[in-house]
Amino acid sequence: MPADRLMEGTSPPRHALVEAAARALVDPVFVLDREGRYLEAFGGTDREAYDSPDYLVGRTLHELMAPARAAQLLGTVHRVLDSRRPVVCEFRLSAADFAGNTNDGPKGEQWFEARIAPLAGKPGGWPDCVVWAVINISRRKRFEAELERLASRDELTGLLNRRAFLASLEAAMRQSRAVAAPLALAILDLDHFKTVNDRFGHLVGDALLRHLSARFVHAAGGAVLGRLGGEEFGLLFTGTDVATASARLQAMQALCAEEPFRLGETTVPMGFSAGVVAMGADDQQPSDLLRRADQWLYAAKHAGRGHVAHPQGMAASLGPAAAPTFNAGG
Ligand code: GH3
Ligand code: MG
Ligand code: MG
Repeated sequence: MPADRLMEGTSPPRHALVEAAARALVDPVFVLDREGRYLEAFGGTDREAYDSPDYLVGRTLHELMAPARAAQLLGTVHRVLDSRRPVVCEFRLSAADFAGNTNDGPKGEQWFEARIAPLAGKPGGWPDCVVWAVINISRRKRFEAELERLASRDELTGLLNRRAFLASLEAAMRQSRAVAAPLALAILDLDHFKTVNDRFGHLVGDALLRHLSARFVHAAGGAVLGRLGGEEFGLLFTGTDVATASARLQAMQALCAEEPFRLGETTVPMGFSAGVVAMGADDQQPSDLLRRADQWLYAAKHAGRGHVAHPQGMAASLGPAAAPTFNAGG
């Protein structure tokens, strides 16, 4: 026996069921015509995310939203109506998009996935319109952003981690090749860092790494900075030649010396050595550049530390760095 006959006489009419179900939806469903007028609005019962959608009915996107936003959403309505095909898209709305309205829409910034289906009009009846069903994906978006942050950031220093730095380097190499712009890569390694761990313990070593990372960000002049591992950092200078990058690194050395890390009464001086190279025609991938920068870093260490070494020469902004000694009190 067919299911609808089984229900005959005992079930509410289908249209009443559909309407009740639509009203109960956590996320809203809208019906919009070609002018962007809301003909119907259902659901949206999650009061954390939505105001009651009833106030929308009879108003247009342009009455409710900032012009650019309204135009963007209306463009999607037209795309669905003209193609007569459903569209799935993601969009973002915040209270600012509803500027000028007292009823200011979603609380905070919200991400939505919209499933938009065409509904052909009936002559003498309703106009061509779309059914615009919304799913709130804000939680998923926040989760994805946090995952991305965790995957790309070094936990101790907040800098790009090795993986993310190498990805940036690869992208920068591609871009520099495309526009024939210079690109310089530096690897810097702290001098005698082990003495800090040995003298003050690992936690102080960690605090020093954080302190220096913040100083490097401040002094790097827009270079992309990453922690390659341990007490080794990478700097990516786009549109920059080796001489300019080298000068920047020397300025960073001077800054480290001017403002040493303080531990109570004790100052903990810490310098670094660096190797710098420019991307050349033979450099195909990040490892090609890294290998050469590492060789020049080794040369800088070999020259007595505190140096910036590169194919055109060697500079020591402060002179060779001996193993640090720590003033009294620490
Ligand atoms: P050099 O001038 O030759 O670079 O001497 P160095 O002492 O800096 O170099 P070495 O490679 O001998 O030691 C690096 C030390 O860095 C060894 C390791 O214990 C320490 N280290 C690496 N990662 C961390 C970290 O995350 N925290 C702390 N506190 N120490 C670290
Ligand atoms: Mg070191
Ligand atoms: Mg090292």
